[in-house]
Amino acid sequence: MQVANTRLLFDSGPGTMRRLLEADTTIFDLNYVFYSHFHPDHSAELVPLIFATKYPDGNRRQSPLTIAAGRGFSDFFAGLKAVYGKWIELAPGLLDFVELDNSLKDSRDFRDFTVESTPVEHNPESIAYRITSADGSSVVYSGDTDYSENLIELAQGADLLICESAQPDSLRVKGHLTPSLAGEMATRAAVSKLVLTHFYPDCEDADLAQECRKTYSGPLILAEDLMQIEVIG
Ligand SMILES: [Zn+2]
Ligand SMILES: [Zn+2]
Repeated sequence: MQVANTRLLFDSGPGTMRRLLEADTTIFDLNYVFYSHFHPDHSAELVPLIFATKYPDGNRRQSPLTIAAGRGFSDFFAGLKAVYGKWIELAPGLLDFVELDNSLKDSRDFRDFTVESTPVEHNPESIAYRITSADGSSVVYSGDTDYSENLIELAQGADLLICESAQPDSLRVKGHLTPSLAGEMATRAAVSKLVLTHFYPDCEDADLAQECRKTYSGPLILAEDLMQIEVIG
């Protein structure tokens, strides 16, 4: 996500750096990485991202990278450090960590945007994010979650809700959403636009838009890699 000249990455599953490059963004362009939770499909490329910042040229990054996540991140990162040691250490001042509450709503003000977070129904550390730019545009990212009243509250009136929809309606699993559940939450939150994402392989054989239309009638996008969406509040 780009807000003014600041670039934010939400989660870094396998293949993230390659896709970033295809979108003309290097790891040195990133100012923030926000983690929704620590499952490998959301965090696996954190280690390669930091390692590639250090080698072969640790001087390429000039400004700090801030990593934000729910409480528990410091323990998670300590575990990675126990495995990788100094290979994932950057020069002093180049890596900042921000831990947000995982049991209550939380918020932080950054230079170009405000972030609000709320716990969602997935893992103990799981949080969803709402980013609001200086001009008032707002984007909400669900991360992984089951049906969540907290997410509905966080997303009230948002310009864009990027919501997971891991399985089709007929194959719902605990801890995740389906198109019609995501649609129901988008309707209750009165968002201006809904993007469904995080599709598991079973989604290939389903009509996700039709399932979502059972509960949501607003603008709807099924996410694809490298898609760009402009948000104007
Ligand atoms: Zn997950
Ligand atoms: Zn996931």
